[in-house]
Amino acid sequence: MSEGVLVGILGGGQLGRMLALAGAPLGLRFICVDPGTNVPAAIAAQHIQAEYDSPQAIEALSQAEVVTYEFENVPAHAAAELLRRNVHVAPDPAALAVAQDRWVEKQCFEQLGIRTVGTVRVDSEDDLAPALEQLGSPLILKTRRAGYDGKGQRVVHSLGEAKAAHQELGAVPMIAEEFMRFTRELSILAVQSKTGERAFYPLVQNEHRNGILRTTLSPAPNTSSQLQAAAESYASSLLQHLGYVGVLALELFEKDGSLYANEFAPRVHNSGHFSIEGSATSQFENHLRAILGLPLGDTSPRAHSVMLNLIGRECPLADVLSVPDAHLHVYGKSARHARKVGHITALARDIASLEARRSQLQSFVSLSEDG
Ligand code: AMP
Repeated sequence: MSEGVLVGILGGGQLGRMLALAGAPLGLRFICVDPGTNVPAAIAAQHIQAEYDSPQAIEALSQAEVVTYEFENVPAHAAAELLRRNVHVAPDPAALAVAQDRWVEKQCFEQLGIRTVGTVRVDSEDDLAPALEQLGSPLILKTRRAGYDGKGQRVVHSLGEAKAAHQELGAVPMIAEEFMRFTRELSILAVQSKTGERAFYPLVQNEHRNGILRTTLSPAPNTSSQLQAAAESYASSLLQHLGYVGVLALELFEKDGSLYANEFAPRVHNSGHFSIEGSATSQFENHLRAILGLPLGDTSPRAHSVMLNLIGRECPLADVLSVPDAHLHVYGKSARHARKVGHITALARDIASLEARRSQLQSFVSLSEDG
């Protein structure tokens, strides 16, 4: 058997699993580093069970043609150490550093003229009263670092609540954000190759509950070409500014016809899972093509798609498989409160049929949600 190109992944979760599954038909081989046991990516990647910055991890990843990451809380110094050893890391760890700190990320949006929600930096409890004064009530307190899936954030309505939340969140550096009464949440997946080639997926519409993504509709219904162009222009500025290589997801709020950036993920993203079946080329394959400098694939939709996350309980396997055109992805993780254990994507020819599929699948998914 000929040896395929080796790709290293920092992290062994479901995004790593789907990356490796997308790369296998292209003849790629994968190695992933993750301190956990029985990680989801291990079905398609050699798993090195080690801390990301351990000598063992760095040594193993140094063998790869290119190293990427599948979640953004990888220690930045681990990626920096790989760069020091002349290992090709994509996207650049500088993009990771921006996405890892919500304040730095907001500053980056501002610098690039990307509209975002009103934000105040909260270094200590003393900054809470001025934040409430400036942004009004309610506001959202978010820890600058290590937040995901709604973790590390609280909505507060008064100074008393803000002080309590500040303590509960560990009195670490935070940001306070204006609470946005948006019309809907959207995201755009953008990809830039090592060669500079760029592509964008059509905007998708997302629904979150308790800060966790529940559903994505692709393409986002009732979306004008101007809105798509505005989203592409924001994403382009980020790709350009960060010298970015790979897939980047930009999460947006739409209000009164305008887009406001919430945050970006320097990686493949949950709102792009629909693309495995719903797009000519999946986000996973395009990420691999981009970091290896291969031609990018077509990002156009194959159909209308709905993606529903399975959260918190075992997957209702037989129920989902009884639905025509429903595609089930089980991540091989044990079920735990608020944990994403899989997703379902269904395709349809038109929005009306998609809505019908969605309600049918929703009844199975609600059985498996965290509430
Ligand atoms: P985040 O971790 O920043 O992506 O936030 C998770 C989810 O919380 C978002 O997708 C929104 O549904 C909600 N959210 C976050 N920030 C705001 C905000 N400033 N105003 C209203 N809702 C928000």
